[in-house]
Amino acid sequence: MNIRRFVAALAAFAFSAAATAQDYPTRTITIVVPFAAGGPTDTVARLISQSMAKSLGQTVIVENVAGAGGTIGPKRVAGAKPDGYQLVLMHIGISTSVSLYRNLGYNPQTDLSPIGLITDVPMTFIAKKDFPPKDMKELIAYVKANKDKVTYANAGVGAASHLCGMLFMTAIQADLTTVPYKGTGPAMTDLMGGQVDFMCDQTTNTTPQIKGGKVKAYAVTTSTRVKSLADLPTVQESGLKDFHVGVWHGLWAPKDTPKPVIDKLAAALQAALKDPNVVTKFAELGTEPVPAAQATPAALAAHLKTEVEKWGPIIKKAGIYAD
Ligand code: ASP
Repeated sequence: MNIRRFVAALAAFAFSAAATAQDYPTRTITIVVPFAAGGPTDTVARLISQSMAKSLGQTVIVENVAGAGGTIGPKRVAGAKPDGYQLVLMHIGISTSVSLYRNLGYNPQTDLSPIGLITDVPMTFIAKKDFPPKDMKELIAYVKANKDKVTYANAGVGAASHLCGMLFMTAIQADLTTVPYKGTGPAMTDLMGGQVDFMCDQTTNTTPQIKGGKVKAYAVTTSTRVKSLADLPTVQESGLKDFHVGVWHGLWAPKDTPKPVIDKLAAALQAALKDPNVVTKFAELGTEPVPAAQATPAALAAHLKTEVEKWGPIIKKAGIYAD
């Protein structure tokens, strides 16, 4: 091909890519959730997707790609076509997995295009209904005294429940038996069935079970009490002074997704976070959307960088790794 023809072909390609980005979206968009259906990440994705669909004028579906502590889903999206039709909604675990996994297989900071932050969800310590401790102070004492007996459910290495459990075990200096699941959905079923003793998980899924009296609730992991669960003390009030975990969530597309596509997705996310239905449901589930200025690509990129840098040394010190 001579130079002139090559330049013309390049221009035609650039024009058609721009035209495609302008027309976006023309078909169904998939949001990958890296955990099983029925868990907190799934809940946030389903609420957001319905609202984003309204502003994008296309169907937005949720696909659960669970496993390996929520690392398989983002890796798949990192390798997907950068056309805006496959996105991933993941939480804080996207920043901790960088240090936890020896072979993560992708880099969330360079292989994904950030769209925006979504929400920061408190966690709660909950247990099967007949678990003996009556309150958080008793739970701490009981777990310390029965280290070899009690079992802790989590959603795999890299999950928020893993992170909360890791911080709890470090704080009380106990190494407990953990039972990994593909997400909070199946973990909650086993907890309610009494097959596993206790867990720490997001209010987005524990609130209905706490209010319905299906599990025993002990404390929230934030530094202040949560409005919709006002009777629950904080873990800090119960004796573990610096204990704090919040589970932030973000939305990403594959790297090199055209800017006009990212801009449309960010605008749809911002509209979803103002949608009264989303705001009300989030409040019922103990959380609230981030301010609009944080539901942006720049804010998510900056937040991810801060979190990767924050958790790296903590995880290194704890000496926990997965392959
Ligand atoms: N809440 C889970 C976690 O521990 C994951 C989920 O099912 O959303 O990260």
